[in-house]
Amino acid sequence: ARRVRPSTTRVDVGFGVEVGGDAFVVAAGPCAVESQAVLNDITSVVALGGASILRGGAFKPRSHPASFQGLGAEGLALLARQREVTAIPVVTEVLDPRHVAAVAESADILQIGARNMHNFELLKEAGRSGRPVLLKRGLAATVDEWFGAAEYVLRTGNPHVILCERGVRTFEPATRFTLDLGAVAVAKRRGHLPVLVDPSHATGRRELVRPLALAAAAAGADGLLLDVHTAPETARCDGAQALTAADFDRLMADLRPVLRAL
Ligand code: PEP
Repeated sequence: ARRVRPSTTRVDVGFGVEVGGDAFVVAAGPCAVESQAVLNDITSVVALGGASILRGGAFKPRSHPASFQGLGAEGLALLARQREVTAIPVVTEVLDPRHVAAVAESADILQIGARNMHNFELLKEAGRSGRPVLLKRGLAATVDEWFGAAEYVLRTGNPHVILCERGVRTFEPATRFTLDLGAVAVAKRRGHLPVLVDPSHATGRRELVRPLALAAAAAGADGLLLDVHTAPETARCDGAQALTAADFDRLMADLRPVLRAL
């Protein structure tokens, strides 16, 4: 489908996949990588369902230290294997500048999470890796601050930056965060970088993911970042927001007419 406002920067993320331009891309997978078997199942669902990028956290920025922190290096190895076997590009979060080299070796896109948008040393190190960087908007960051953070990556000489709106903190507790589609429209007008939307982390609730994903497509986003799990009730991280396989297939089908209408 043609984009409302095609981003002029197209980011080649490997395996023949481009983010930006006329394309609408879906990155989907578990919030956290849990095991080889579960990752295999989820990868099959998202790849067959039309996702062109696999997401999955190996290093998780959890609000409480007692929560599952991710499998770390073992999770990276599982992602790297999945990428080799399935020939699908992988996006995963990097939390620490010391891990950038290892993450860049196992993944195609380095994700900078919302909590690290202001971690400028991490941004510079991620930029210097040369890998595409998916930059999430901070929990309370203005669009200017988000663009400023992107500039830290761009000024390392790495032009491969993808923005991602994932909701901001407001007075409203009915959703985990408030998805700011206005910021998506602004970012698309003001800049040249592709903008993805993550309705999973924005809402924290699977039943709200579909309407906001469709709205994001209509608002001109260049794609989506989605949590999908084949057994969300057993998920070690954020199961409540994960789409099931059936939810994912339904959403992918429902996106088609929205994208066609643009
Ligand atoms: C994630 O995408 O796994 C994540 C933790 O998102 P955010 O940084 O937006 O909270």
